[in-house]
Amino acid sequence: MPLDIRDLKRRGLLSPGSSIISSWSKGGHIYGTIKVTVYNGIVVLQYRYRKTEDVKQTIRFTWTPCHFGGKRIWFVCPFCSRRCAVIYNNYGKYFACRVCGNLAYQTQNESYMDRLLTKANKLRRKIEADPGAINPLPIFKPKHMHYSTWMRIRTHIQLLEGKGLDIAASMFGFNI
Ligand SMILES: [Zn+2]
Repeated sequence: MPLDIRDLKRRGLLSPGSSIISSWSKGGHIYGTIKVTVYNGIVVLQYRYRKTEDVKQTIRFTWTPCHFGGKRIWFVCPFCSRRCAVIYNNYGKYFACRVCGNLAYQTQNESYMDRLLTKANKLRRKIEADPGAINPLPIFKPKHMHYSTWMRIRTHIQLLEGKGLDIAASMFGFNI
């Protein structure tokens, strides 16, 4: 899950003492939330890892001057001390830069999850359900459809979405 410091800056959240709850969502699914508290030169991130463990991580941030005046803001990766605009919580407990977070692994899992949820959405259209695992399945079948077909599709959707959300939960360590 990415956290972009430029986004925090744009939203005016980087003054010491400010604290926000931010959440990630994709295709209507909310993966989880994180609390970001800003102190002088550091942010403290608080989130839940693998549904059970509360994690608190401190990340430094820093500024560099731009060519044409002004300054640019960066996180400092807690593992390699490189400057980076975005840090990721990739399948693991802690946020890190793209390199330290081994992002390839996440992309692989993310695309598998996307495939599951896309397939589920296609089936949802067939039974006239709104897309997105967050929406309940309708309790009445479409008029033209056999009951057994309807039940089979429903079960299939639940299976795909269950798997997809499990992956999301294990990747991001959040309650769904
Ligand atoms: Zn790093």
